[in-house]
Amino acid sequence: MQTLKHTIDQIAMFDTHEHLISPTEYCTLQPDIITALFGVNGYIQHDLVSAGCSHQAIDAFLDQHTHDIATRWAFVADFWQHCQYTGYGEAVRRAAKILYGINHIDAASLEQAAPLQATYQGVAGYQRALEIAHLQEIQVDAFTWQPPATPEIPTLRYDLNVQTIADGSVVLDTVATHTGIAVTTIRAYRLALQTLLRMHANDIVAIKTQHAYTRTLAWTHVADDACEHTFEKHRTGIPLTAHDALVLGDWALGVIAHEAGILGIPIKIHTGHHAGNGAMPLEWLSPRLVTPLIKAFPDTRFVCMHIGYPYHDELLSLAKHYRNVYVDLCWAWSIDPVTTSAFVRRWIHTVPISKLFGFGGDAFLPTQTVGFADQARHWLALALQAEVDDGLLTIDAAGSIAVSLLSTNQRLFYVRK
Ligand SMILES: [Zn+2]
Repeated sequence: MQTLKHTIDQIAMFDTHEHLISPTEYCTLQPDIITALFGVNGYIQHDLVSAGCSHQAIDAFLDQHTHDIATRWAFVADFWQHCQYTGYGEAVRRAAKILYGINHIDAASLEQAAPLQATYQGVAGYQRALEIAHLQEIQVDAFTWQPPATPEIPTLRYDLNVQTIADGSVVLDTVATHTGIAVTTIRAYRLALQTLLRMHANDIVAIKTQHAYTRTLAWTHVADDACEHTFEKHRTGIPLTAHDALVLGDWALGVIAHEAGILGIPIKIHTGHHAGNGAMPLEWLSPRLVTPLIKAFPDTRFVCMHIGYPYHDELLSLAKHYRNVYVDLCWAWSIDPVTTSAFVRRWIHTVPISKLFGFGGDAFLPTQTVGFADQARHWLALALQAEVDDGLLTIDAAGSIAVSLLSTNQRLFYVRK
């Protein structure tokens, strides 16, 4: 075990998915130790809520300005007991151990370690956390079209997020302002979307969409003529029905997928489980629903994120069959580490190894990326060691697969051809 984990720890991971706030926002935030581990959309909050903790209690827990650490911890302590062994809880425990030397998270240990958070403040602290996570490139979805300016940290790269375009909610005036094209007809909208991608082609790594949060992933081809009426409704401010929004979104996704194929820009699609609580329609999320889009644009490369959990079986089949389908383990290690380890083992014996990307923490704070990165290394080592122990891989082959999954596959894939 030691050898393989040691090999994996040496690999500078190519991180394909984070939502990191910018260094400037981080400096303004000045996260304390609780915020650093649990705050800013920290996924552990969702398990705490699932276990029965109220949103008000979480808000009070994360409030850096009103109460002391012991009082704040009391708001969530009982619920933490139920969540500490989930994948999200494990990532928090790993970050606490690595960043602050905490072996057991409670009020006393957080209070004692709180001064160490000074090490992780400012741009230097932001960078220090990313260095500890040992990453060579970090791809960030900042939910924007224009990548944020972050000259301080050159390893940060950005996606162009098209969710509002894909779910039909986009304000057309913002497209017009951004591209300089008056979006008055469906043909002008097409030109504006093409322009949007072309103007950013050189400063983004990928197109990203998480429209599975706001509509079904199911896609059908919509011709210009069939979309014209819906487009006109949207342009003139008439509220769209859910069906209208799908028509406009599917039409736009078709334009984007076509253009992305021409430009060689991959499209990352959220598939599977939702973050948060109380909103997830499981019937929207299966990777199988993306099949018509994948099939219609064979020259466009699609990355299905988060292994489509809990429909991960479908991705083994889709990625095996379609040459333009790739799968990313981002966030999957922390949603369900046991299943993700098993998924990796099945993938090795089912799908070409080059089409699987091994890590993305999906975090908003670099301190949380530290926990997710260590978690991914740990569970990948377990999966590969099991392959060795079962006599299916040599230790050298396992090490070489680790390098492929954590670095080489992504590096080669995201080089624009
Ligand atoms: Zn994400």
